Amino acid sequence: MNFHVMTLFPEMIDQALQTSILGRAIKNGCIRVNAVNIRDYTKDKHKKVDDYPYGGGAGMLMQAQPVYDCFQAVRAGVAARQGEAAADGMRVICLTPQGRTFSQEMAMELAEEEELVFLCGHYEGIDERVLEEIVTDYISIGDYVLTGGELPSLVIMDAVARLVPGVLHNEASACFETFHNDLLEYPQYSRPEEWQGKRVPEVLLSGDHRKVEAWRLEQSQERTRKLRPDLFEKYRKKQSLIRDLLKRNRALYIDMAESLRRGRGEVFYEGEEGVIVADRQAGVCMLAAFSDQAAGGLVSLVPAEPEFRQFVLHQECLLAPLEEHCLIESNIPCRHAVYHHRIAPALSKKVEIRRLDPSFLGQIVNFYHTTSAEYIRERLVKGRLFGAFAEGSLAGFGGEHQEGSLGMLYVYEGYRRQGIGLALVSYLIGLHMSEGLVPYGHVAIGNSASQSLNRKLGLKISKETLYWVRGSRRQEF
Ligand code: SAM
Repeated sequence: MNFHVMTLFPEMIDQALQTSILGRAIKNGCIRVNAVNIRDYTKDKHKKVDDYPYGGGAGMLMQAQPVYDCFQAVRAGVAARQGEAAADGMRVICLTPQGRTFSQEMAMELAEEEELVFLCGHYEGIDERVLEEIVTDYISIGDYVLTGGELPSLVIMDAVARLVPGVLHNEASACFETFHNDLLEYPQYSRPEEWQGKRVPEVLLSGDHRKVEAWRLEQSQERTRKLRPDLFEKYRKKQSLIRDLLKRNRALYIDMAESLRRGRGEVFYEGEEGVIVADRQAGVCMLAAFSDQAAGGLVSLVPAEPEFRQFVLHQECLLAPLEEHCLIESNIPCRHAVYHHRIAPALSKKVEIRRLDPSFLGQIVNFYHTTSAEYIRERLVKGRLFGAFAEGSLAGFGGEHQEGSLGMLYVYEGYRRQGIGLALVSYLIGLHMSEGLVPYGHVAIGNSASQSLNRKLGLKISKETLYWVRGSRRQEF
């Protein structure tokens, strides 16, 4: 991931990022930080970048020209490396106390980007006209006023970078901490077992993983209830919706429940007619209608935002109303395959499985046509595609889709019928279980090979059909 920081004090950024986890992440290439001095772009012969505000008032204002030219230089660098489309799509964040307050959810959203540009203000701020030209997001780190945007940009970079695959050694640790899933983290203890007469809670010494997890959840809930009743209320409501969906039909609604549980999905609608859960990062909207009559009304509540281009319809009756609003490009009927067991399937000793990096893109795009090359590249960058190797050669691959389901399974000719697919899916199930997730995937109707592989591994296939629809909105919607 590349951070570009436009600032009058690049040394503040460079110095702060030299140490500890972020310093290591920069050294090993997981993140790159490009601190650019806005002053280098001023056309003023005295290198001035600020002036008095029109209309009077206290302090000085950063002028439009140096900021704009600095941005154009950053943009040109990205365009040269990643192409014009990537440069046009970049998010440019202006740090300002007037922005949306930064949160863990925003950190998760920003961690999906490959290029992030920060604009740090100083003095009384920045000329509005350049902000209108280049800024896509206005973010504050809290309701107080600092002297500059450098510290806020560092705060955001720190929170975002630690969600980038490879930055934290123990990747699971970013999944189970404060704010993940609307809960504060449980109390933690390290050696010695007893300090100043205080003993570590017995359960943590028991070695019983399940009991430890249950204790931690209870502690997290209790802590959140006491310290952050607002957050606890959000958590409680979400848990009750998850329970309700799973009670109605566990295998059918597992995607919505997992999306909420994993902190990806937002509830857009919840009522007697049904439920709409949307995963903004993946651009996927999941709809459940609780009666045929409710379908039309429910579809009309789908957020009218262009990023939602995929819809998972949990009932057939939703198809016709969706077609009224969308030009449907494809519709794949499928079923869910869910792994409910407590123990992961045994791993094959014969097949070596490794996380794939983007250098494998060429070997994948030529064989896996269900998604775009850009999508596969993004999955590789995120470290969510895995390869099975036989005698050092890539024999097959599989991974996690953007919205969290398992899939993208492919075994190269010459390696089929040797248990490679089975080994890959077993591995992915084990991976998700180790991350505290319920593993599930989609099986297209008619894909009997996939059905039998899933059954062999003990996954339960939903009785009902789901419809995975890609489409774009009609103008009038
Ligand atoms: N006059 C501005 C206002 O009232 O909104 C405040 C300017 S502040 C003194 C200077 C710069 O510090 C801002 O342009 C912004 O980049 C940064 N800054 C200050 N407080 C911030 C906060 N809470 N979050 C993000 N950026 C902040």
